[in-house]
Parts: sequence; structure tokens; C-alpha cells
Amino acid sequence: MSFANVVHFLEKIAPLAKLSKKEITLLQTPDRILKAELTVNGKKYPAYRVQFNNARGPYKGGIRYHPEVSEDEVTSLAFWMTVKTAVTDLPFGGGKGGVTVDPKKLNQKELEELSRAYVRAFYKNLGPDTDIPAPDVYTTPEIMGWMLDEYQKLTGKKAPAFITGKPLELGGSKVRDIATALGGVYILEEAVKKTGLKEKKVAIQGFGNAGMNMAQLLAERGYTVVAVSDSKGGIYDADGLNIEEVMKVKKTKGTVTEYTKAAKISNQELLESGCSILIPSALSGVITDKNAEKIKAKMVLELANGPTTPEADEILWARKVLVLPDILANAGGVTVSYFEWAQNKNDESWSEQKVKKKLQEKMVSAFQQIWDEFSDEKKSFRTAAYVLALKKIAAAEKNKIKNKS
Ligand code: GLU
Repeated sequence: MSFANVVHFLEKIAPLAKLSKKEITLLQTPDRILKAELTVNGKKYPAYRVQFNNARGPYKGGIRYHPEVSEDEVTSLAFWMTVKTAVTDLPFGGGKGGVTVDPKKLNQKELEELSRAYVRAFYKNLGPDTDIPAPDVYTTPEIMGWMLDEYQKLTGKKAPAFITGKPLELGGSKVRDIATALGGVYILEEAVKKTGLKEKKVAIQGFGNAGMNMAQLLAERGYTVVAVSDSKGGIYDADGLNIEEVMKVKKTKGTVTEYTKAAKISNQELLESGCSILIPSALSGVITDKNAEKIKAKMVLELANGPTTPEADEILWARKVLVLPDILANAGGVTVSYFEWAQNKNDESWSEQKVKKKLQEKMVSAFQQIWDEFSDEKKSFRTAAYVLALKKIAAAEKNKIKNKS
């Protein structure tokens, strides 16, 4: 989503959050936009790190590798991280990074070189108490490992808390690999409880880290996953897909569309398919004013960042479709990133059970706070989440200003 849209949305909800003009301007302005050009094998790739706001703690957010990455998109994503960490009460601000590259066109060596070049370009502005990167679209634990190594070489210090989403052997946290999906499951289960939704037919767009783990976790919990997709297209079976088999096909053949026991559908058809819960888990801007009327789901859980355009959001709200917004629904990733950071800082290693329990507590408590705010029925669940988060950020900003004077 363009940052202009974000700014517009903020202006619209400012009165509900009772924010002054000055506060709104502040929340619309990133602290710092860092840019570089990374060279790998003679080719140049634009790279960004946007540090949006650190009133509540160090900047925090992933690094995305994608051909469509732009300064504008990274700025929106950095803003959302600021809101996301406030929604879940993590002691962090928000930032985001990105490189405009198609990582599928690079070999392992080039990918490593690009990742190390990213750290060399920005490391002076990053650090365990300044700005802590993590994975995002098409970036992996292995990439986090290379970045950590490069950072430690440059600074001459051991600093596992510099980056989260690392492999376990390098100080990563248990559960971080499935955290985005698991956090989403906890939110979905709360929403199902509150609304009494009976039919549990799920369609999931995207079969990357978030989408695939979500499909597996929900199938294990007795949901019927009727549709999944990846960038090549989707598959649909009204009686439910065998997710274990679909995962095998994805691993061996590279795409879910090679699965032969279900009907083939397009990504567009998946969004409008017969299901009660729709889970966009890929890229932004897929639910628009063109298809929002046709969505059959009663609930939309946004595992992707920004999958619903503001126009579509209004249509869904008017149609009483409950949208569980990205800033809450996919906050499981950054929440376990916080646990990872805390473990690194205190030289601890928590059990799987402990991480899951703490994640559930965080997600349920954030959900409940928003549900209470939402219950007046005057604002959408998304608006309620923003109102709460923006108030927290504005309060921290005030404190910052006071402490300075
Ligand atoms: N990239 C994830 C997100 O958008 C995780 C960020 C993090 O762990 O810092 O929330």
C-alpha cells in the first residue's frame, strides 16, 4: 500500500484517537530513511532501511527481498511495525528494510553477498539497542545468520541480539519459525469464540512461511482448509485439502498447483471462493474495491501486511465481515522476535512450551484490549486497534519530549 494511503487513513481516524494536529503530523513522519545501492557480481540493487519511530523502544522490523520493493512501500511497512509493536505492548518502535531484487534469480553465493552488503551499508545505524532487523518476505533464518556474522565482524563484538529470526544454533528462539502463523491461530480462535462462528472452512492465499504453517496448524486443529495458493496459482477442494500432501508437493515440485487431487483456481478466485474464513498470507493490496463485494468469508485474518485496500476495508465493514487486521493478526512474528531478543540479552534459552504460552498470553491480551475498544460498534476492529496503538505511541512521544526538555 502506498504511504499516501497510510497518511490518509491516519487523518481519517485521528479524531477517534483524539490526537492533535501536531501528534498526527509526528505519527506521519518517519524518523529516518536510509538508502544504499548494493553491488553483487556487477549488478546494482537499491536497498532501504526506514526507521519510522522509536518513542516506545528501539526500531524493530524485518528486511524484505522482492522485485517490487520501493522506498514508499518500505515506509508503509515501517509505519505498520511501529503500530504492531504498540498493539502487542512490546518495548520496541518500528522500522523496516528492503532490497529491490528477485532473490529467485540469485544463486546461494550471490544471496549471501547481497545480505552481507546490506549490513555493510547500514550497520552504523543498526544494533541490539538501536534497530533490530528480522526476516520478512523471501528472507530466511540462514540470511539472518549471514547478517549476524557480518555485523559481528564489522563491530568486533558478539551481539546475537542484533537480529532476530536466526537459526537456533546462533541464538534463535524456539517457535520463531512458526510464530507468525501460531500468533494468527490464537487470534482466530479468540475471534471464533467471541462471534460464535460455526463453519470452519478456510481459504489461505500464499504458501510461504506464514501461509504454509497456518494451513498446517489449522488442519491439525480440525479446520477444513479448502483452498491454498502460491505465486503460480491455487487449488480448491470443498471437502478439504490434505495439507501434509500439499506440503510435500510444494517441497518437491516448487508449487502447490502441481497437486493433482483438487481443482485448479487462480489467486483471484481463491479470494472469492466458498469459505467462512479467508486468510491472505502473501503480498499487500489483494483485497480491493473490485472484489470486496464478492468475498464470501465471514472473517478475514490478515497474515500478510496490508492485504486490504482502504476502500475494500470499508466495503467489508459495511457488509459486517470481521477483518482481523495485520497489525494484530500477524504480530506473532515480532512478538517471538521480542522473546528471542530478550533471551539473547539475558543469555537464556526458553523451552518451546514457555514460548508458546507467553505468545498466547500476549496475543489474547492484545485481542481483548481491542475487542473492548471495538464493542461500541462505532468503529471497525481495525480502527479500534489503531486507536489503541496510536494513543500508546503518542503518549510515549510526549514522554520523550518531556525527558528532553
Ligand atoms: N517481518 C515480520 C513482520 O512484518 C517480523 C518482524 C520482526 O520480527 O521484527 O512483522
